[in-house]
Amino acid sequence: MNMQTAVVPEQLRQKILDHLTYAQGKDISHASIYDWRMAVSLSLRDMIVDPWFNATRQIYEKHGKRVYYLSMEFLIGRLIEDAVTNLGVGDALDAILADYNVKLNDVIENEPDAALGNGGLGRLAACFLESMSTLGCPAYGYGIRYDFGLFAQRFEGGRQVEMPEDWLMHPNPWEFVRPESQYTIPFKGYVSVENGKSVWHASEAVLARAYDMPIIGWNAEWANTLRLWGALPTKLLDLDRFNSGDYTAAAAPEALARTLSRVLYPEDTTENGKELRLKQEFFLTSAALQDIIRRFLSEFDDLALLPEKVAIQMNDTHPALAGPELIRLLVDEHDMAWETAKDIATRCLSYTNHTLLPEALERWSTWLLGRVLPRHMQIIERIDAEHKKESGRPDTVGIVMNDEVRMGELAFIMAHRVNGVSALHTDLMRETVFADLNKLHPNRIVNETNGVTPRRWLKYTNPSLSNVITDVVGSGWEADLDKLADLAPLAGNTGLQKRVMASKQENKERLAEWVKGHMGIEIDPAAMFDVQVKRIHEYKRQHLNLFETIYRWNEIRKNPTAGWTPRVKFFGGKAAPGYFMAKQIIRLINDVAEVINNDPVTKDFLKVVYPPNYNVSMAEKLIPAADLSEQISTSGKEASGTGNMKFTMNGALTIGTLDGANVEIREHVGAENFFLFGMTAQEAGECARTPDHARNAIGKSQALRDVLQIIAEGTFNRAEPGRYYDIVDNIWNHDPFLVASDFEDYLAAQADVDAAYRDRSRWAEMAILNIASSGFFSSDRTIRGYMADVWDAKSLL
Ligand SMILES: *Cc1c(COP(=O)(O)O)cnc(C)c1O
Repeated sequence: MNMQTAVVPEQLRQKILDHLTYAQGKDISHASIYDWRMAVSLSLRDMIVDPWFNATRQIYEKHGKRVYYLSMEFLIGRLIEDAVTNLGVGDALDAILADYNVKLNDVIENEPDAALGNGGLGRLAACFLESMSTLGCPAYGYGIRYDFGLFAQRFEGGRQVEMPEDWLMHPNPWEFVRPESQYTIPFKGYVSVENGKSVWHASEAVLARAYDMPIIGWNAEWANTLRLWGALPTKLLDLDRFNSGDYTAAAAPEALARTLSRVLYPEDTTENGKELRLKQEFFLTSAALQDIIRRFLSEFDDLALLPEKVAIQMNDTHPALAGPELIRLLVDEHDMAWETAKDIATRCLSYTNHTLLPEALERWSTWLLGRVLPRHMQIIERIDAEHKKESGRPDTVGIVMNDEVRMGELAFIMAHRVNGVSALHTDLMRETVFADLNKLHPNRIVNETNGVTPRRWLKYTNPSLSNVITDVVGSGWEADLDKLADLAPLAGNTGLQKRVMASKQENKERLAEWVKGHMGIEIDPAAMFDVQVKRIHEYKRQHLNLFETIYRWNEIRKNPTAGWTPRVKFFGGKAAPGYFMAKQIIRLINDVAEVINNDPVTKDFLKVVYPPNYNVSMAEKLIPAADLSEQISTSGKEASGTGNMKFTMNGALTIGTLDGANVEIREHVGAENFFLFGMTAQEAGECARTPDHARNAIGKSQALRDVLQIIAEGTFNRAEPGRYYDIVDNIWNHDPFLVASDFEDYLAAQADVDAAYRDRSRWAEMAILNIASSGFFSSDRTIRGYMADVWDAKSLL
């Protein structure tokens, strides 16, 4: 059934008006944009419910294998966008709302972003959900219903200020509360042995309550469920304690529940090591596994069949307690033998590694883990001891080492498949962090290069380009992105070049207007839009880009009539609240912007724009308007990246290092359509080990010396000249991410970019070839890979 043609606008209109009246309790003449948003969302949800039920019915009828995707983060953004796109009701809604003087865009903009994630990892999980629905893969996403998502970012005097992200201040129209799906999650206490069985006597507990959101796939042919867990107290008040006068202790159960699903941890690439975080991880994992087993037993009798019917994906190590928890449930609560339980758990579980950065690898002290989860500590020690015995592993390998539990090793040993997220990252996994385990289990590591959903990141965000694409390659590319390859033979065609560039121009003009309206900065839509948006981290090297900006500004000032290619440098991103260096970089970008944007000499050639609060909705505004995509991490540090793929799909050219999925992007689009610079991962590794690598590089670069001097002189911070000494000092004396060693090569590549941009026809050709080659980076391709290599799951469409 094709919902795009099956929409009956009059029915939709009636639904919206009914919801406005009976759900919102508002008369049309008094309805606010919020009321309209709720009415529209509830109407769209109604349309999703039928395909959703249909999908569930089919899974039960066919007894299909289900995939469970466990993730502490789902950075879904606005759900109304998926619904409008995948139900194909954009035009109908536009027309209906216009009758009441309401703009669909205003309705969409009224929805808060569901920011239940930090960045790439959480956004990947959101793209995967949408792709699993599009492909008819029977799947559940399991996550936490945080009351507060990732903090909202403001700038005060150029500095990042964090504010709570209260997306649940208003009711969430997409969710269904399931009070009947509720599980007890125990903590702490002690373990005794009774009749040869281990019994965990927990001293604390919370309830996990399910909230379901349907996730609709392309053309509304299938919908899966995102089930988020909210914490509730097991009892509101401990009456015995209350009556005996211990009022604080009486409220303890409620206090724990209130904090448990309260807020998302804002760290992305560092590990936190706090008890509350460990409890959150167990909360998600235990609730999900109890739910999985309950659903399985409602359909089958024999738990031995679990691996045939259930695949459980651990998104990073955050849900790595799934191994010991599944064993605990099978052995302690379902009377299974240890060996059988361990075997079943391993065959159900698989693990995705997202980073090789040592500071991001999760470890828990045995003291903390043993105190919060005493039974799991026993199980982990037994898994570790048995693995040691069975594998004959060297002494350097182990789950429990130096009084710490290493979650990467635990996840690896308890999984039948472990995957990296780009070809390069998977190779590095095999050679570095998991070298020993890879030798012991040679076929366990596989690669599944990340992808992004083209429905959101192309169809929805870039309607003008989407129309051009449909005209050229025909319909259906949204679910078969390899079709974009049909654009390639026409890349030299002037007509197509004009249309693609006109679409880009339209997107740039819209963004320029937004920048003027929201930030008061005047930018020229004909200038090159050069964009770096992602979390702020030293390994991502926003400072490399900023140094080039300062160099460029200085060069323009020295010679304003040298025929400069006008550029607008866009930065966007948040820093973890405790990450000092990243926050300094943010402040310096803002200080530099202040000076450059007010310089009359350079104003026609250079502007710096840093809109606050980069999130999914902001990405959707910026990426379609980008000419140049900055993917400049130190080689070997970015596991994959997904931002890079969104830009390629939208016809931006990449300036980048051979890191993460950049390597594969370059292979697909062709080396001549990609601005490569910098060391390889191997060279970077060697360089970082060379003493004085930064001093040597600075010694060889007059340009970099000038830039560091300009910063050190306080050019951007007259009131407080010493403000950025630490940044300058870091580059001179440490520079762990090799900004200095890659600087000259980066300048040269940027000069190539300037030259290429001046040849408008050549640039258009390169942009078209980038779009045409982006089919590989659809998350549909990624999910097909997981279904075949990791989950052994079948589409039911
Ligand atoms: C895609 C995306 C990311 C990931 O970007 P990278 O450049 O791959 O780090 C982070 N945040 C948001 C909001 C995104 O949409």
